[in-house]
Amino acid sequence: MAKRVLFAASEVYPFAKTGGLADVAHSLPKALCSRYDVHVILPLYRSIDRDKYDITLLHEPFNIEMGGEEYTIEIYGCLFEGVECRFVYAPLLCERDYLYGPPECGYEDNALRFGLFSHVIAALLRSEHYDILHLNDWQCALAALLIREDPMIPTKTLYTIHNLAYQGVFDADVLEQIGVDSRYFTLDAVEFYGKVNFMKAGIAYADFVTTVSPTYAKEIMTHEFGCGLEGFLSFHSRKLQGILNGIDPEHFSPMSDTALVSTYKNVKGKKSSKSDILKQFGLKGATKPLFVFIGRFTGQKGVDLLIETLPKMAALECNIAILGDGEEEYSTALNAIAQSYKNVSLHVGYDEALSHRMYAASDFLLMPSLFEPCGLNQMIAFAYGSLPVVHRVGGLADTVKKFENYKEGSSVGYGIVFNTPASRALLSAVQKACELYTDKKRFEEIANHNMECDFSWSESAKVYSRLYESISK
Ligand code: ADP
Repeated sequence: MAKRVLFAASEVYPFAKTGGLADVAHSLPKALCSRYDVHVILPLYRSIDRDKYDITLLHEPFNIEMGGEEYTIEIYGCLFEGVECRFVYAPLLCERDYLYGPPECGYEDNALRFGLFSHVIAALLRSEHYDILHLNDWQCALAALLIREDPMIPTKTLYTIHNLAYQGVFDADVLEQIGVDSRYFTLDAVEFYGKVNFMKAGIAYADFVTTVSPTYAKEIMTHEFGCGLEGFLSFHSRKLQGILNGIDPEHFSPMSDTALVSTYKNVKGKKSSKSDILKQFGLKGATKPLFVFIGRFTGQKGVDLLIETLPKMAALECNIAILGDGEEEYSTALNAIAQSYKNVSLHVGYDEALSHRMYAASDFLLMPSLFEPCGLNQMIAFAYGSLPVVHRVGGLADTVKKFENYKEGSSVGYGIVFNTPASRALLSAVQKACELYTDKKRFEEIANHNMECDFSWSESAKVYSRLYESISK
């Protein structure tokens, strides 16, 4: 009989998504479900359309005690693309406008909300047998500690860090409210500079820890990228491995994508997508290279660098279309630039379909990230025949090779790579991209090559399977 895996994440595409975690929590279980009996579990946020996905109540409501308070919990379920999904409903966790809080800050009671999510996961493991619990990011990390506490739970845990910049750090007094004994408030457990750190629970108590690219796995053990956990991660390095994320080839395929104005199988077929996006963004000149930026407006994504460089980029023969949302000051600064240059245009918001149309329309995707655990955008860009322009860091270093070294018949994706996160380096990369674009034949050959490369989960899912087997044998 196939082993049972409970895969827990705070966001899963298409139910709830703010970034790459949701894509991974959708596509990795899907890639594993032929080998394992995988159940995905996430909160049933208010924004999730229960009717659309046929989400129904699975259990009678039950109560959970956390920090002396009783919470009523309902468990819902549905089958999506062959994967069993489980949803946790509790008003405290789910009745919000945003998943984690408005762009500027998280909700004040996030420790309680996601502490409760972890308690529910542990409760489910008491009533149902699972061989493996796969936890993702800080929002469910506490579950690793809770199930270690309970000798009746035989489940082994794998903990995946998708972004070390978000650790779930809260004031020490939440410890009691989330029902965690004060003996865990130590350096080798959840204590972090006098505060409580959820991610530390995942790292300390999981049987194995992964992060989402081999380069990021090394980087997070350094002062520069470790966000204060470099020492702790180095201490646990024997159970830490970097496994590259993949994308779902069914969801990200220009040959079948229903969001596109017309589907295509090679770069020649992108023309109508390009005119569509130029029109929507009010840009002119289909023969000029179109650069796009799609992502969260945060420091991580290199938005400062982009803002600093855009005026100089705008002086080149190109168009630039930007889609994103996040910190207000970034939206304001980008908007001011878009108002000043007729070849720069901005759409503020989160729009899945528009993002697909932009991947399809673009010639180049800008990704000047300061750090990037893995990054999915560059892989999506490959699939849609858009060349990524990236800072060589984290997963970008693992997935994007310099176009200057392009080799016919290789299995790697090529783009424009720059080494330092500086405006001069980004500008010079964009200039190189514009130059390459003038050599149509070469540009198209490389873009078509990238479209043929395999960025699916096929290889990485095998690595996860091996890990599941080794921790649960
Ligand atoms: P993150 O750090 O945000 O998780 P990733 O590169 O791992 O970055 O994944 C980002 C995912 O979110 C991709 O699927 C990307 O297309 C999508 N995305 C980011 N911002 C937007 C937006 N404003 N509208 C639509 N999709 C977006």
